[in-house]
Amino acid sequence: MPVLSLIIPCFNEESSLPILIDALKNVKFKFIEKIDLEIIIIDDGSRDLTANVALRLAKANNDLAKWQILELSRNFGKEAALIAGLDHCKGDACIFLDADLQDPPELIPNLVQKWLSEGAEVVNTVRRTRAGDGWLKNLSSFLFYRIFKKISRLDVRLDSSDYRLLDKTVIKAICSCREQVRFSKGFVAWAGFNQISIEYDRPPRISGKSAWSLWKLWNYALDGIFSFSTIPLRIWTYIGLSMATISFAYAICITVTALLGGINVPGYASIVAIISFLGGIQLMGIGIIGEYIGRIFIESKKRPIYVIRNLLITEGSCNNEYG
Ligand code: UDP
Ligand code: MG
Repeated sequence: MPVLSLIIPCFNEESSLPILIDALKNVKFKFIEKIDLEIIIIDDGSRDLTANVALRLAKANNDLAKWQILELSRNFGKEAALIAGLDHCKGDACIFLDADLQDPPELIPNLVQKWLSEGAEVVNTVRRTRAGDGWLKNLSSFLFYRIFKKISRLDVRLDSSDYRLLDKTVIKAICSCREQVRFSKGFVAWAGFNQISIEYDRPPRISGKSAWSLWKLWNYALDGIFSFSTIPLRIWTYIGLSMATISFAYAICITVTALLGGINVPGYASIVAIISFLGGIQLMGIGIIGEYIGRIFIESKKRPIYVIRNLLITEGSCNNEYG
């Protein structure tokens, strides 16, 4: 009987988690074969009672699934929580599920269907609409996906969310990437395999507020770009080359003018402008190199991506309705 692991990263989700588990209980699976469920909750250093609520839910719903509750020692971020879930996942496939019901549980049967019947090793979900997210977040995400796809040269599914199903072969490939700076959408595209997408309308959060400010999203976007491409470095080679060519042409112009019409002294203003412009360009170039060196520094330490304080595993019976 195939086992499906639901990986649920949680940061301050004490109020959403019980609603999510109730919603999961109402999902009706109609497959030819029965599947067993494993629920992995990762408490990513929550400051509320998420871990206690998760424990209570696991005890009360022992017949729904086998449960693993991973309590991380602090807030490591969603990406670290996801890889912690993958490392502990025992299923034949897994699905990442946000705790706030923005990833509708009623889609799970469709995802599993594509995996079981159509042989998809990755089933992505693509957001048709995003209710509850502001226009700035929507626009920046729209632009980011397109830029990322262009410069990483990976077949990233545009507008896909983290809500996706991964077969165990894909899980193995992703778990072999032990980078500190993690960008899961990039890993999934990098891994390849047979990928299918389904569309859905992303609802707003059921309660609480998003942990992602625009500043955090900006840094996440930079992490994605710098981890998967060296094109930003190459751009500076071309900028340097263009500046050198323009300067050379300008120097020839000045020499010819000086030879033909006597020496022309145009003043210091243009020189100051050119020097400060070049200074700015050079500093930006150094900044880009610094982004890569900083990442080499972080990766070279090979620290663990997350630290677990507690791990609780329950032995659920598998007489659930998921058949
Ligand atoms: N999350 C997490 N660690 C964090 C931030 C978020 O585990 O540091 C979890 C969060 O509890 C939720 C999921 O990641 O289950 C998505 O987070 P959120 O809803 O804040 O992001 P958004 O949907 O706004 O992109
Ligand atoms: Mg959310």
